[in-house]
Amino acid sequence: MTVSLSGKRVWVSGHRGMVGSAIVRRLQEENCEILTAGRNDLDLTDSAAVDAWVQTNKPDVSIVAAAKVGGIMANDSLPAVFLYQNLMISANVIHASYRGGVEKLLYLGSSCIYPRLAPQPIHEDSLLTGPLEPTNEWYAIAKIAGIKLCQAYRKQYGADFISAMPTNLFGPGDNYDLNSSHVMPALIRKMHEAKLASSPSVEVWGSGTPLREFMYVDDLADACIFLTKTYSDAPHVNVGSGDEISIRDLAHLTAKVVGFEGDLVFDASKPDGTPRKLMDSTRLHDMGWSGKHGLEDGLRLAYQTFLAEGARGEVRAINDGISTFEPTGARAVNS
Ligand code: GDP
Repeated sequence: MTVSLSGKRVWVSGHRGMVGSAIVRRLQEENCEILTAGRNDLDLTDSAAVDAWVQTNKPDVSIVAAAKVGGIMANDSLPAVFLYQNLMISANVIHASYRGGVEKLLYLGSSCIYPRLAPQPIHEDSLLTGPLEPTNEWYAIAKIAGIKLCQAYRKQYGADFISAMPTNLFGPGDNYDLNSSHVMPALIRKMHEAKLASSPSVEVWGSGTPLREFMYVDDLADACIFLTKTYSDAPHVNVGSGDEISIRDLAHLTAKVVGFEGDLVFDASKPDGTPRKLMDSTRLHDMGWSGKHGLEDGLRLAYQTFLAEGARGEVRAINDGISTFEPTGARAVNS
């Protein structure tokens, strides 16, 4: 069953984030009307507000890119925020989309849904076959709930809700806050600043041995539109690039791209997280989709956009994802 986006009202929740903004960019190639709601207009953790927004704006298609996201330290240190807010966002957007009669919904998860020691490359069938990686299990549990919501609404109501699991992403609009970012934007920023300051070294967290797969976010956006139009089934679909690299080699590659010539110092007091996270994207590739950007050329583009965003004063050096939906009570509990 294929879905045309032509003439449709397509709601992108989370449109200010790296993934949502890439999807909005990609949707501009489609003959559709893009619907977005600013964070001051719609709190996605508020069920009644989300329901009312959908009833008023009547999207035909819903792409769920909204999430509370963060790197290894943010995930590990804010478990309640990551679990609660992602559960609420997922449940509210999926349920409201169903109630609003949305004809197609794409839910975005994450490769961290899989067991810590899943066989590599990780096939979709590895879901719920073993314990999760403790540093991001809270986020993972919420994302697994989102996948299951899509499957449940499909099974019970016949809703055409699908989900995609992207690998580690990077690109325009990334979060460059060193406490809450993922590794790629952190390395770009640290090496750029070290180059400018002529610093002798840059600190890289952990041992450098973990392996990660990276995808340029515009490739993910293209895969999302492809799946929205062509895929209609209960199983979630991995979206990976096959570009796997150790954190040590990634640090060296980033240094080359940025032009930083100092030393790399590995800080073993910081967590490594899961030892390896490479997804098996055979299912997606067998459908006929492939990405356009290799790791090094994507990294060059990401560095260019980091410089351009910096020049425009738009580098996200605070994790506005974290503050966006944080309920006032959460801070009180922590303090
Ligand atoms: P993960 O894929 O969920 O583990 O998330 P991250 O992208 O935050 O981290 C990936 C790996 O990069 C982990 O092994 C980190 O320890 C390592 N790493 C090295 N330097 C950094 C850094 O400056 N920031 C982050 N977030 N991770 C880093």
